[in-house]
Amino acid sequence: LFLAVEGIDGSGKSGIVQHLAARLRAHGRDVVVTREPGGTPEGEAIRGLVLAGADEAWDPMAELLLMTAARVQHVRRVIAPALEAGSVVLSDRYAGSTLAYQGTGRGLSESFIRALHAEATGDLWPDLTLILDLDAATGLARSRRRLTGSAIDEGRFESLDLAFHERIRQSFRAQAARDPARHAVIDASGTPEQVQARALAALEPLLAA
Ligand code: C5P
Repeated sequence: LFLAVEGIDGSGKSGIVQHLAARLRAHGRDVVVTREPGGTPEGEAIRGLVLAGADEAWDPMAELLLMTAARVQHVRRVIAPALEAGSVVLSDRYAGSTLAYQGTGRGLSESFIRALHAEATGDLWPDLTLILDLDAATGLARSRRRLTGSAIDEGRFESLDLAFHERIRQSFRAQAARDPARHAVIDASGTPEQVQARALAALEPLLAA
């Protein structure tokens, strides 16, 4: 079972990933928790390269190819073997983020991104992607609160921009609308406990199966 959690910055993905992993383990499932960009030593190095760049330092196409290179390592070295072994794979971001950030956000063609993904990964998509849906202003406020005082790269800060994040949000919603069977849109407003309950409810049909 392959699960991904997607959402704008500040939507609470990491907390939900931790919560779902704990609940799945409590149900006796072996869970591999991973993330993108990252998930392998090579992928984490690429994550460092991309996130250290000043905002828009990377050409969007170069950024897409770096993200894709990281994903090839991630799928071949971590995700596919774990699925093969019968584990649940739970990834904090996956290809939905590429469609949202490099596609809708930075203007690259969605059909090209989908074709590249298909070639690079054997067209591996999660069985279910949870979209943590939150208005951009709330996400932005949460991110700023979290980042204040931390060693966040100043460059990326610029991208914490309202209109950009609203477009990212809409991209995730459109992805869900395009393929509703493999997506669940979760209202990410409210307390962490409320969002956790909604996320768990979305997973239940898959766990019962
Ligand atoms: O979710 P996380 O905080 O790990 O994401 C790190 C950063 O990478 C975020 O600011 C996100 O906007 C960015 N990102 C991106 N393109 C992707 C995935 C993440 O620009 N495909």
